[in-house]
Amino acid sequence: MGDEISARALADWLREFARRIHEHRDELTRLDSAIGDADHGTNMDRGLTAVVAAIDALGPATAGQLLKKTGMTLVSTVGGASGPLYGTFFLRLATALGDVDVVTTAQLAAAFRAGLEGVVARGKAQAGDKTMVDALSPAVDALEAAAAGGATTHDALQAARAAGERGRDATTPMQARKGRASYLGERSVGHQDPGATSVELLLSAAVDTLG
Ligand code: ADP
Ligand code: MG
Repeated sequence: MGDEISARALADWLREFARRIHEHRDELTRLDSAIGDADHGTNMDRGLTAVVAAIDALGPATAGQLLKKTGMTLVSTVGGASGPLYGTFFLRLATALGDVDVVTTAQLAAAFRAGLEGVVARGKAQAGDKTMVDALSPAVDALEAAAAGGATTHDALQAARAAGERGRDATTPMQARKGRASYLGERSVGHQDPGATSVELLLSAAVDTLG
């Protein structure tokens, strides 16, 4: 029941992610002003606005086509670390899902795992480095575990979002070891990571549209 995700639902997910990024743009930028260069909100908003335009122009598409377009658009429109990293995430999702008509929870979990591996391959961040990986990695673990346990798509995504939220919150006491925030050394401690914050928006958008 409710265990299959259509390409149309994936498009809804991307639109909802764009909406949430826009809504939280100033908060993301404020977080990035504390430990970065104050552009994470504007970077992501620019990228996701372009993604929505690109998927509108694409019309009906397979999951693979939709996610590939998303990844390529983010890489080409977002300057800064987050563009190539989110871009890689969606490009890996596209490859993992290919041209299947409907996606099961287990396939989604496997695709998210591939996406995370792409982010790590590209950015070389490990758990505890105070990056988006600190939210994404526990979320993928939770998604996989829930899918393996036979959870519904909604429950699995809810578990992923909760784990991602805890991972996001856990970035606050960390000292950054990757990205611009790492230049601050100990002064990066005590601030929530902007990229981990946008990952939680990606996950909460998924709960609302894919579940
Ligand atoms: P930039 O740092 O180039 O200004 P953004 O401000 O858009 O780019 O994105 C910053 C976010 O990117 C950080 O909060 C962090 O989560 C993420 N990030 C930066 N470098 C890495 C990395 N090497 N691996 C994973 N995530 C990273
Ligand atoms: Mg920045």
